[in-house]
Amino acid sequence: MNILIINSGSSSIKYQLLEMPSAQVICAGMIERIGSTEAISTFKSQDYKIERICEIKNHKEGLERITALLLDSDKGVLNSTKEIDAIGHRVVHGGNALTETTLINNEVKNKIKLFSSLAPLHNPANLVGIEMAEKLFNSAKQIAVFDTAFHATVPVKAKKYAIPNKFYDDEGIQAYGFHGTSHKYVSKKASEYLRNKNAKLISIHLGNGCSITAVKNGKSIDHSMGFAPSNGLVMGSRSGDIDHAIIFYMINTLGYSLDEVNELLNKKSGMLGLTGFNDLRDIESEANKGNASCILALEMNAYRIKKYIGAYIAALNGLDAIIFTAGIGENSSLMRKLVCKDMDFFNIHLDDAKNDLKSSTIREVNAIETKVKILVIPTNEELEIANQVFALLT
Ligand code: AMP
Repeated sequence: MNILIINSGSSSIKYQLLEMPSAQVICAGMIERIGSTEAISTFKSQDYKIERICEIKNHKEGLERITALLLDSDKGVLNSTKEIDAIGHRVVHGGNALTETTLINNEVKNKIKLFSSLAPLHNPANLVGIEMAEKLFNSAKQIAVFDTAFHATVPVKAKKYAIPNKFYDDEGIQAYGFHGTSHKYVSKKASEYLRNKNAKLISIHLGNGCSITAVKNGKSIDHSMGFAPSNGLVMGSRSGDIDHAIIFYMINTLGYSLDEVNELLNKKSGMLGLTGFNDLRDIESEANKGNASCILALEMNAYRIKKYIGAYIAALNGLDAIIFTAGIGENSSLMRKLVCKDMDFFNIHLDDAKNDLKSSTIREVNAIETKVKILVIPTNEELEIANQVFALLT
């Protein structure tokens, strides 16, 4: 079965074509920095590696480019779109209504749209991906895998807000949790690596969006993102934790409109708001040149992560390993170093030399004698989605 996975993020589209159940990757690629004149398009098959920098205005153009690459008569991997049996879409917010991997129909699309107001950077991009894929690959089954699903096991005491009960009971206002496909995949890998399915783990997903999850016995027990993917850690353009009184102050005293505040907190805050740069590579390079706001933003980012680690050690009543994953978690040795600094009380000790090594496989970067492992685990949301799609269809 040929399964194409489409992971349509806020500024990127990752894709992978897999043959299942062998999990053989036929081709994979990514379009990064969508919306810029310098978008990076990569495509890799067994025989070819193509990288181009070009203007890609939006997700629609991104998917058209991916389809053209797959069908390219010279370097492509398909003769026809009919060779794709199913498409697995990563969808960020399934709310209370969509908690399982599901075949997409109009009702499912309407629900994904309904939850767009809760995930304004993601669900609309996911829907565009679905609608484009329905047109471009009209004979394939379209399936949605939800980021919220892994966190369905978070206990009520952790997911309920301390506001009147009717909002939880009648309106579904609660912490949902996100990046579930990634946290599920890397925590499973960590348990296998540690040979301990009951391991107490803290999974730190640091990409454009950032979140942290406490995992016990393979299940999510708490998560830093909340009702929408906006709470918690400092992100590329999202503020993470903020005192809600600031929102009222901005509106009532500073004269901002609700829409402006929404846009400000989701698209103009986080590392972008603090430094003027969204991409951590640019921020690290500026910090190296002595840019004070970039240095401070990196420290703020790491400090927030440290606080959550402390909180989750309390929630787990212990810790076997912390996991770094996603674009920043896997690639930024500096961010890992800042997070693990002065954490000896928790038995967290980084080995600087190991931390600086690059690898695309699971690796341990803790000092050899320490009890708590520090693992860098490349996430593979695509494989996790393919497994779930294959399981649904067979
Ligand atoms: P993701 O959402 O997982 O694709 O991650 C995107 C983020 O990863 C962006 O902020 C990138 O700047 C960051 N990233 C990717 N490669 C590196 C790198 N080598 N060093 C630092 N950050 C990186």
